[in-house]
Amino acid sequence: MLQCRHLIKDYITGDGFVRAINDLSVNFRDNEFVSILGPSGCGKTTLLNIIGGLDNYTSGDLIINGKSTKKYTDKDWDTYRNHRIGFVFQSYNLIMHQSVLSNVELALTLTGVSKEERRKRALEALEKVGLKDQVDKKPTQMSGGQMQRVAIARAIVNNPDILLADEPTGALDSKTSVQIMDLLKEIAKDRLVIMVTHNPELAQTYSTRIIKLKDGQIISDSDPADQEDEKDDKTAMKKPSMSFWTAFQLSLNNLMTKKARTFLTAFAGSIGIIGIGLIMSLSNGVQNYINSVENDTMASYPISIEDNSLDMSVLMSAMMDMDKEEGKEPGDTIRSKNFANKIIQSISQTETNNLSAFKTYLESSEGKEFQDLAKAIEYKYNTNVLVYNDQALSENSLVQVSPNGLMDRLGMGSMMQMRSQFMPSDINGGNEVWLPLPKSKTLLDEEYDVVDGRMPSKYNEVVLEVDQNNEITDYALYSLGLMDQDELVKNYEDIVNGKTKELQAGENVSYTKEELLNKTFKLVLNPSLYEKKNGVWVDQSENEEALKKIVANGEDIHIVGIVKPKEKTVNSQSMGGIYYDPSLIDYINEKNNSFEIVKEQKAHKDINVFTGQAFSDSSFSIDDLSDEQKMMLAQLSESELMEYMSTMNANTNASYDSNLLKLGVFDPNTPSSINIYASSFEDKETLGDMITQYNELQEVEGKDENVISYNDMIGVMLSGVSDVINMISYVLIGFVSVSLIVSSIMIGIITYISVLERKKEIGILRAMGASKKDVSHVFNAETFIIGLISGLFGILFTIVLNIPISLIVEHFTQVEHIASLPWQGGLFLVLINLALTMLAGLIPARMASKKDPVEALRSE
Ligand code: ADP
Ligand code: MG
Repeated sequence: MLQCRHLIKDYITGDGFVRAINDLSVNFRDNEFVSILGPSGCGKTTLLNIIGGLDNYTSGDLIINGKSTKKYTDKDWDTYRNHRIGFVFQSYNLIMHQSVLSNVELALTLTGVSKEERRKRALEALEKVGLKDQVDKKPTQMSGGQMQRVAIARAIVNNPDILLADEPTGALDSKTSVQIMDLLKEIAKDRLVIMVTHNPELAQTYSTRIIKLKDGQIISDSDPADQEDEKDDKTAMKKPSMSFWTAFQLSLNNLMTKKARTFLTAFAGSIGIIGIGLIMSLSNGVQNYINSVENDTMASYPISIEDNSLDMSVLMSAMMDMDKEEGKEPGDTIRSKNFANKIIQSISQTETNNLSAFKTYLESSEGKEFQDLAKAIEYKYNTNVLVYNDQALSENSLVQVSPNGLMDRLGMGSMMQMRSQFMPSDINGGNEVWLPLPKSKTLLDEEYDVVDGRMPSKYNEVVLEVDQNNEITDYALYSLGLMDQDELVKNYEDIVNGKTKELQAGENVSYTKEELLNKTFKLVLNPSLYEKKNGVWVDQSENEEALKKIVANGEDIHIVGIVKPKEKTVNSQSMGGIYYDPSLIDYINEKNNSFEIVKEQKAHKDINVFTGQAFSDSSFSIDDLSDEQKMMLAQLSESELMEYMSTMNANTNASYDSNLLKLGVFDPNTPSSINIYASSFEDKETLGDMITQYNELQEVEGKDENVISYNDMIGVMLSGVSDVINMISYVLIGFVSVSLIVSSIMIGIITYISVLERKKEIGILRAMGASKKDVSHVFNAETFIIGLISGLFGILFTIVLNIPISLIVEHFTQVEHIASLPWQGGLFLVLINLALTMLAGLIPARMASKKDPVEALRSE
């Protein structure tokens, strides 16, 4: 039994209130067909809405099965509507973008009935109203009578106790009206039907009871029901709730009816994504490129440890910080500022590395992990390989090939010396054209291709290096004596002296491979340049005749092959030159050690063999000589005396070590540099860590002097580049994010418009028992769909745009796939876009859920 007790409903209006229901009390039996008649505006709809739980009463009480509803929560009302009430409206209120079947099923989806059950029951209800064969139609394709049948089917599908019909035939012709009334009468057989109508005849014919209303009060009741005591209603009702999937389908169907708009919205929303996606793609591509350069090239650059390494960073910062000194104000006085001193100071911080200790470590069992991980470990020695070309294309047909004499002849020798002092030897490359091949077979194979002939297999065999195009620089050819050095030197001097204004570029020469393979050079052992005269060893190389004789006695060195650097190697920008087998220096060292002069020097470490004097830093003075020596000098001829003096002067600042170097002797245990090659960039990093470990070990053992320092200049440079790229990317992404936010807000606005458009649907959903939350779910689902589509669109466009961008970049730089979106980035963008659009859609969705269902239903 349903009871209204002193119900009052006031509507607040602009100036006061309208009392739509005025102290109305009435009882309804569980099974009757009640018609409510009354003039327009008398409160019929209001009463129906209150009974149906769509609208709240102002005061009084609605008692359902003996239970007051005064304390009903929103949820209780939702449940009540969903389980107990079926609504039929004058204007049908079907959801136009859903099929007939889906419209009917909707009420059941809120109840959480399984899909098959839902379908079965919806079909049953549609069969009852005679529409079994029209289930797949859209409401728009139906007549008014048919639509009203659908509405009735929807109202009864949940098998409610009460069916409320507000002028169900109001919009129908009389013939159709009769059919609908028959249907309602049929339905009223086993439940309470309350129908509002304007038509007294229909009411008379079909209903069992007629109530007349006027000004919100009952003025007549044909069959009032007595109040009867009823037991409390114990049947628990399941709370209705919409699954996300239902909300999703509702929104998807809605969006499908407006494909063009959905597409445009999603496209507009995707623009921000495209922007960020492209930036991500590019910076990712560039980063990948840098990484691949690091891996390919940087890995082939070894970790290079020099016996004394100048910390370039100290030098650089010394120069950079020049202007940052404190207390910088132009005072009254003119002051000096440190520049030269600072640089010298930073040079003085040169680190000396104990490479002999490190070499011992590397070759011991403790250093085995180095041996295992490194691709190769190469030792270089401070040595002096003396090589001449005695068939050179110059006037006296003699050219010093190694150490390269060309720069000296051009007067640039000291400049070159400076350069090699400041730069790590690997970067410098040097001005030498007579260079060692790597000892490691792996490195050899990796770095060079044999063009002709073969690789050297003995100390007296060398190869000639050409570049990718079989070219050698004229610099190398002049230095090797294969082009006329005299000519170059003369041209240079003419220019310096202003004799010639323009220098003709030398004519290009070419050789057959056979010609080059037949060339030989002369290896001269350094000690053989000196001859003992008057107790000191005198350099013969200044004397052309003597030198020629010495060179002629030298050993032949043969070119046995022509090589070119592999395309990937670092040194592919080669000047060209001769590469010798590393066994050559061991051979030279061994031979040199057998010379008298070397033995003498080694036997008397504090006496300079070239002067017979103790090593000293001060310049030579006759006063330092013993009487005996002075006597000897007196017997010399003038030219011999000159020679003696110049030897003496040349040996100022000499030391035991510098003399050994001059004599081409080195200690195989003391390399001048150690190059550790890695197979990959990661290995290189691990090797770096291992050196750090070695250093820690030395410190722990108190051997601080063994600690090793080295510069990884290229690594530092490259990491700087990636930092810059990252920074630029972040700034750009920051800018483009604004458009992402703008597009999210736009999607929020469009959702809001959608809320306005779907007001009716909100009302219908609420009438069927959907909670506020369910309604907001529907709109959240809509923003979810749009957000997802726009995100995927954005990614798709980005991927498509990346193709031409990559092609253009490839065209100009030969770097492939520069624009490639990492999948993590793409996923991140889709998710962030989804989050942003859903955030922007939250407000409209909340607004939708707050909509008054009665008002929503009234709207057209
Ligand atoms: P009926 O259905 O009998 O034509 P209603 O129940 O729709 O009448 O309306 C009853 C009275 O309440 C009318 O005077 C109407 O103007 C007023 N009314 C209905 N809804 C509102 C509302 N939301 N705000 C203000 N007044 C309303
Ligand atoms: Mg009405």
